[in-house]
Formats: sequence, structure tokens, C-alpha cells
Amino acid sequence: MPSTTPPSACQHCGIDHHEHMQRWTSAAGWHQWTQPTQQQVKQRMTVRRKARTTSR
Ligand SMILES: [Zn+2]
Repeated sequence: MPSTTPPSACQHCGIDHHEHMQRWTSAAGWHQWTQPTQQQVKQRMTVRRKARTTSR
């Protein structure tokens, strides 16, 4: 899994909406893209920002 997850990626597996379709994870089983929680979006944006600043 990439270190930076798109903020809008699936709540269960972290795959972006447009490439998700049906996916399997041990935690959620077969599922379709599920909107991430506000907390997940917030956390992903923080990680993303941090990755951008540390990579330069
Ligand atoms: Zn998923």
C-alpha cells in the first residue's frame, strides 16, 4: 500500500473511488467503495501534507 492515501479513498482498504469496484479485505470482506469517516479524511490529509514537506 502506498504511504500516502488519497483523502477520498475507501474507508476499508484505502483505494480511490474511481479504481475501487469490488474489493476484498480480511476486515471488511467483499465490499464496494465506502465513504471514509471525517476522521480518516483528516488524518490522510495530515499524512499527505507531512509526506510532502519531508520529501523536499
Ligand atoms: Zn474498499
